[in-house]
Amino acid sequence: RLKSALKKTTDLLNTDIRDLFKKEGRLVDDEMLDSLYSILVKTDMGVGPAGRIRDRVKTDFRGRVVHLTDVIASVKSELRELVAQPLQPITYAAEGPTVVLVVGVNGSGKTTSIAKLTSYFRQQGKSVVLGAGDTFRAAACEQLTIWAERLGANIVKGEAGGDPAAVAHRAVATAIAEKADVCIIDTAGRLQTQTNLMQQLEKIHRVIGKQIPEAPHEVILVLDATAGQNAISQAQGFSTAAHCTGIVLAKLDGSAKGGVVIPIREKFSIPVKFVGLGEKATDLAIFDSDQFVDALFE
Ligand code: GDP
Repeated sequence: RLKSALKKTTDLLNTDIRDLFKKEGRLVDDEMLDSLYSILVKTDMGVGPAGRIRDRVKTDFRGRVVHLTDVIASVKSELRELVAQPLQPITYAAEGPTVVLVVGVNGSGKTTSIAKLTSYFRQQGKSVVLGAGDTFRAAACEQLTIWAERLGANIVKGEAGGDPAAVAHRAVATAIAEKADVCIIDTAGRLQTQTNLMQQLEKIHRVIGKQIPEAPHEVILVLDATAGQNAISQAQGFSTAAHCTGIVLAKLDGSAKGGVVIPIREKFSIPVKFVGLGEKATDLAIFDSDQFVDALFE
């Protein structure tokens, strides 16, 4: 699944890298290294990681005639180091509901990712309460209601324009009362008002922290893989405001910029927990960094 989702990125990368080589191999000189660097940058992996990979290939092979497979092995080994992370699915509460706060800008795939997470928990036999905390967007609440019905989750809604923290509070209260396993809380996705956003998230933290001291157990940031480098600046904004514990990288299937996983791992200490591979509730995969690197070059 990951392999076919990454097809656009992989096609671009592999075609270009293959073109660098002839059957009899290629001399690794400055020209070759510069070309390799340009190809890598096109995947949106960022200049830092692309530079590191170029340096690695230089150290390994400079002045030698090598084959495609040699260089790929070298590139993959450097990439593995860059994106390495332990497999990190959700950290569950020791007892009581596990509270998962979901943040991200509008259009990133936040609503769909909440549906996918709900489906993931439901498949494990866990009961889910959703808190429709994006009270600024009626459409988000409507969408979430449809998903909740479809996936067999309970949903707590607020009034349009109402206080998101009040919705979060009621959702957690409902989850406690119903002995639900998981409570997923949506939040507003507006970054242009950074201060408001920060205050809103802090208030939600404060309110639900009074109900369950360890809550939220997870703060999941949804990023749009098709946004490439823009996803990085979004991550920057949210990681300071929201104490994120993990990332869902949505729309990886539609992206030719799948390389964006690399600067995300390079710049932030936040693990990529899941990737979105389509529009259906089941189109979610746990992110495995080694699998990702292998898929890029298959
Ligand atoms: P929100 O505004 O952040 O809540 O975004 P939505 O969840 O409504 O998603 C915006 C659009 O992206 C919708 O058309 C979704 O179907 C689509 N979308 C979300 N996640 C994915 C994904 O992983 N892959 C693909 N191909 N489309 C997605």
